Amino acid sequence: MTNNAQSPELTDGFHLVIDAMKLNGIDTIFTVPGIPITDFTRMAQAAGIRVISFRHEQHAGNAAAAAGFLTQKPGICMTVSAPGFLNGLTALANATTNCFPMILISGSSEREIVDLQQGDYEEMDQLAIAKPLCKAAFRVLHAQDIGVGIARAIRSAVSGRPGGVYLDLPAKLFGQTMDAEAGKKSLIEVVDPAPRQIPAPDAVQRALDMLKGAKRPLILLGKGAAYAQVDADIRALVETTGIPYLPMSMAKGLIPDNHDLSASAARSYVLAEADVVLLVGARLNWLLSHGKGKTWGGPNAATRQFIQIDIAPTEIDSNVAIAAPLIGDIGSCVSALLAGMGANWSKPPADWTGAITERKDKNLAKMAATLTLNPSPMNFHGALGAIRDVIKARPDAIVVNEGANTLDFARSIVDMYQPRKRLDVGTWGIMGIGMGYAVAAAVVTGKPVIAIEGDSAFGFSGMEVETICRYNLPVCVVVFNNNGIYRGTDVNASGGADVAPTVFVKGARYDKMMEAFGGVGVHATTPQELTLALNAAIASGKPTLINAVIDETAGTESGRITNLNPKSAALKK
Ligand code: ADP
Ligand code: MG
Repeated sequence: MTNNAQSPELTDGFHLVIDAMKLNGIDTIFTVPGIPITDFTRMAQAAGIRVISFRHEQHAGNAAAAAGFLTQKPGICMTVSAPGFLNGLTALANATTNCFPMILISGSSEREIVDLQQGDYEEMDQLAIAKPLCKAAFRVLHAQDIGVGIARAIRSAVSGRPGGVYLDLPAKLFGQTMDAEAGKKSLIEVVDPAPRQIPAPDAVQRALDMLKGAKRPLILLGKGAAYAQVDADIRALVETTGIPYLPMSMAKGLIPDNHDLSASAARSYVLAEADVVLLVGARLNWLLSHGKGKTWGGPNAATRQFIQIDIAPTEIDSNVAIAAPLIGDIGSCVSALLAGMGANWSKPPADWTGAITERKDKNLAKMAATLTLNPSPMNFHGALGAIRDVIKARPDAIVVNEGANTLDFARSIVDMYQPRKRLDVGTWGIMGIGMGYAVAAAVVTGKPVIAIEGDSAFGFSGMEVETICRYNLPVCVVVFNNNGIYRGTDVNASGGADVAPTVFVKGARYDKMMEAFGGVGVHATTPQELTLALNAAIASGKPTLINAVIDETAGTESGRITNLNPKSAALKK
């Protein structure tokens, strides 16, 4: 670019995108470089944006989604065209499903050639494909519209119910030039991207009246409540009302799991028995048995009433009738409830809280006994008991968790003490989020990350251990290695040479994968070895992978969602 009297200073698409991001506080991009974004990633890095480069776009996308959840700023994933875009799309759809704000930005081929289907390099109508899988999708064709494109993408991602946004940037756009001054003026600094949404006073009163009349009230906290970052108010709501609460898995730690009012250890009892349920940022989807059926049976099934706090009005009545919808942002709704409660709120009847405590104590004692058994070979409980104690001592560590049994057991055994310290498979219950979420958690918080991974789940994103080593992130991956999917003991019914579809290489040494890239690998066969290695990893902050050998006969098929898995009677011999 020249700067003299004849030719005014110019800017281009590359710089305008970077400047628009910086203007809006975007400081990190998760990406896999390639045509046409390679130079963009270099220039963004030169301009002071942190560029985290992955080995596969799905993991870059998952990282962006987790960053969005943790920071309330849209996480940015940038990919190349067609195949890179498609790889990132899974993460975009998953982010949207989870209500995490992220923006997938993909380079794309020449519009004129794509639209006439003339066979361009990586030709694909990406905008059309992305549209049904995210909250909003935009394409920018002219450099002077980049500011508007980025602004619309940010607003769409974080306002109302957060979610994924696709932004299509054709290769040609990056090189377009325009007058630098006019370019600067075309950028938009988004004002109040996620405006508060104040609930209507009559809706607040309706909710309060319902709560007041309850004999067996229950509060359900979802990951929307965790996302909202109004932790003190949520805790005040629970403590002021004295109502027992259940955290959904990613709401664990919003209030410490060892809180007196936590009903986690009496989950099935409270779901069956509650007469008034206050949902705070939690949907009545499959994870809550759709609010009906056996889980929600019990004496109050016919008369049970739901109060639902949510920012999305159309979520209401999605599964069962909601008697008191409270539409607004969680912060505004919860503080309106608190304000309306006044000083003399009476706590729930003692027979309700007492019955919960009794069941809780019994179940917790049973769990404690199981955790001390410590059989050899190590089982899920032995390994998770060790991790549980380490987290107790380091409550600021972030747990990433995926797998089947590894997920189910960890969710109930490993207590969380601080908000937004648990990232897991989310609404879809997907595998493959592990290393992407772990990288994002380490990058945006700087805290130690412990990824508790089934051996199968780890396989989806395992190559990203190189990424973890490259950026020297304080991530400790614990692979629960039981030689296969669900467990390692399945046999090939045909008697042929191939192993059964769910069985992996026996005795695999995942720890060597981390060593290959300069990280620390540990082979652990006892809870004691696991504890030592975990503590060392946290103390050193070095990338570490612990291959935790788990009894290959431990584990049940599909973990706790066996009921969702169609089974052939012919195989049940
Ligand atoms: P979980 O899986 O933990 O039950 P869900 O993802 O099902 O949680 O539900 C989260 C809910 O929270 C969604 O319905 C979403 O609309 C809502 N939500 C997200 N952020 C906010 C917010 N800031 N204020 C109000 N509701 C929110
Ligand atoms: Mg396994």
